[in-house]
Amino acid sequence: MKVLVTAGPTREALDPVRFISNRSSGKMGVAVAAAALRAGHQVRLILGPVAIQAPRRAAIVRVTTAAEMLAATKMNLRWCDVLVMAAAVADWRPKKVAPLKLKKSDGPPRIEWEATPDILKSIAPLKKKSQVFCGFAAETDRIAQEAQRKLRDKNLDVIAANDVSKKDRGFGSDRNALTIYLADGRVRRGALETKIKCAERLMDVLEEIFAQKKK
Ligand code: C5P
Repeated sequence: MKVLVTAGPTREALDPVRFISNRSSGKMGVAVAAAALRAGHQVRLILGPVAIQAPRRAAIVRVTTAAEMLAATKMNLRWCDVLVMAAAVADWRPKKVAPLKLKKSDGPPRIEWEATPDILKSIAPLKKKSQVFCGFAAETDRIAQEAQRKLRDKNLDVIAANDVSKKDRGFGSDRNALTIYLADGRVRRGALETKIKCAERLMDVLEEIFAQKKK
């Protein structure tokens, strides 16, 4: 399969030295890319600003902002059989980026915010019947409801939900516990395990759905 993965956070500038972002380390998405490579698939990885090493055999596109991630995803969309959006896209950006450094002596700035583009929503109309789209849902509460709402809203085949309110898993950790919701109503619950194991389990599900679509 040709697997397109997005991973890591995105980052939006407030001024030339400051930005807003989130706690994503990129580990889960990079583990998905690595699992796909080990399973013999071709991988393109769209990677936000992360400190970790990217798998050497993946074709890597580095991006910073949500707009750049959207553009890179669109560019590679026709190529892929499977899209895994593991990136934690920053939800808001300043309406205007200050061209010069905001002066601390001027006091806390009043920043007007706007939403960043929802990448999965904006590419949903471009999706081919044979393609498998997988999202992630990082939640602190009402995990099942939120994941199932996003599965429908974003027109996904699969969503992998994880609890980011616990210290032993999720953001920054090497471990995670994924519950995988499929569009046909099936649910696969995973135990707390390494992100590498989580990624392998997710890849098995994606391979299965892709094979069903080809029939
Ligand atoms: O809506 P929420 O951010 O919780 O949904 C998470 C899923 O949507 C993830 O797969 C994430 O990569 C994707 N997403 C996106 N564009 C955004 C925000 C999230 O594609 N602006």
